[in-house]
Amino acid sequence: SRKYIVGGNWKCNPATMKEANSLLKEWKKSPPLVDPSKVDVVICPPALWMSSLGESIEGLGMKTCAQNVGKNDAGAFTGEWTAANLQDLGITWTLVGHSERRTKYGEKDEDCAEKVAKCQEAGLGVILCIGETLDEREGGKTDEVNKRQLAAVLPKVKDWSKIVIAYEPVWAIGTGKVATPDQAEETQAAIRNYIKGAVSADVADKLQIQYGGSVTPDNCAELITKPNIDGFLVGGASLKPTFMDIVSTVG
Ligand code: 13P
Repeated sequence: SRKYIVGGNWKCNPATMKEANSLLKEWKKSPPLVDPSKVDVVICPPALWMSSLGESIEGLGMKTCAQNVGKNDAGAFTGEWTAANLQDLGITWTLVGHSERRTKYGEKDEDCAEKVAKCQEAGLGVILCIGETLDEREGGKTDEVNKRQLAAVLPKVKDWSKIVIAYEPVWAIGTGKVATPDQAEETQAAIRNYIKGAVSADVADKLQIQYGGSVTPDNCAELITKPNIDGFLVGGASLKPTFMDIVSTVG
């Protein structure tokens, strides 16, 4: 029995920090929904606001998660920040390899591997995002793509307790086309099975695998009944007061 984990990835939203604060205030008005024994909740605000919003996020029983991290140590890397910088600020989580980083900023599997290595050194939790494009799914390559994205990173992982996988099919992200519960379950079972063979049965059994892509309060209840779906990584629906409905449905 794995604990659930729900993430809210705000991406480059909302437009102002004032709006971000209002959203957090709205969440605070909801009844106390986060049962920390059942579900962890992490919120990924734009990096600029991580420090300022951290206290409010923690006040809700949630943790702050970066959306990205450099693959470098401290040095001449304009625009970057290190895994150790996050640790130093008390931020204990980061996303790595989100499909928007891969497709819009040219991040490769090898970049993700280097980032994961730095996070492991710093003791930082990583939500590693993987998933296939529509062409790849239609070409029957879904499992192959997920395995390739995982295989690049596996050699860097020593502490599996600091790794969560987010399966986010690219065709489902921001499109309103959620994977069916059966599609998500089938793919996530294959991911777990791959980890079982490549690492160990024990690691595979404990590994939390989130589903991400057009998750809403309306479709999350059916998805979460699936045995290989251990939570969600939510984009658009995490910018709304009703994100709390997703959290309470899971936990
Ligand atoms: P949406 O929930 O907006 O489809 O985004 C999913 C996502 O990319 C979360 O990281």
